[in-house]
Amino acid sequence: MKKLIAANWKENPKTEAEALKLFKATVAVKRGTNVDVVVCPPFIYLPEIAKAYKKLLNKKQLSIGAQDVFWEEQGAFTGEVGPAMLRGIGAQYVIIGHSERRKWFHETDAEINEKIKLALEDGLKVILCVGEALAVRNKGLAAARAFVNNQLTRDLKAVKPKGGRIVVAYEPIWSIGTGRYDEADDAEKMAVFIKQTVKKLHGLANIPVLYGGSVNSGNVADYVQWKGIDGALVGGASLKAEEFKKIITITSQQ
Ligand code: PEP
Repeated sequence: MKKLIAANWKENPKTEAEALKLFKATVAVKRGTNVDVVVCPPFIYLPEIAKAYKKLLNKKQLSIGAQDVFWEEQGAFTGEVGPAMLRGIGAQYVIIGHSERRKWFHETDAEINEKIKLALEDGLKVILCVGEALAVRNKGLAAARAFVNNQLTRDLKAVKPKGGRIVVAYEPIWSIGTGRYDEADDAEKMAVFIKQTVKKLHGLANIPVLYGGSVNSGNVADYVQWKGIDGALVGGASLKAEEFKKIITITSQQ
């Protein structure tokens, strides 16, 4: 299967000028036909990035996405952005349920579930983030699997991919932004478990699963070389254009 490398810029960079510079530098890399790349900037930069994207001569294997979306199309929901709005400006992907949103904004699985349903209905591709905290992982891999199984069950409850499609990013929380990354074979076992779980719960076979958590150019090959791992969700390293380009190049060589 084709690999997917997704960049989550989080609340970065500080100015639109820097965002455009980073986008242009990032997408200048030669992409192989075996790797799709998606760049997810903050909402506020998306319209300008979408304009820059439209002007690109080579858009192959490249998409733009958002880092969150709301579960209603429109209405009295101050500060929110709906999926049709995202589609309207040219976004193809959306990250939903990132652990930072679960932690800082107390997003629940029920809310994540609503977001996924509407985003898919409106034709967005969803990158659903799941993953356990350190306290869970310290109890062992079986405990981590039980935790992820619980998240998948709730987040994907009654989800039917209509126009869109679902990608799951396995991101152990203790590994995000910490420089501490999961053993690749443990991550692969979890990726296979996620595929099996989603098939059992929803009949969706071979759902793409990404690994996320301190991925960089020095460790990306360890993950993407596995058949069960379909790519990576990259945070910090996606803010350094040269580093992110290396991640794409290395992935395309697998
Ligand atoms: C993320 O935020 O999804 C992430 C994986 O971050 P980092 O690569 O910085 O660990």
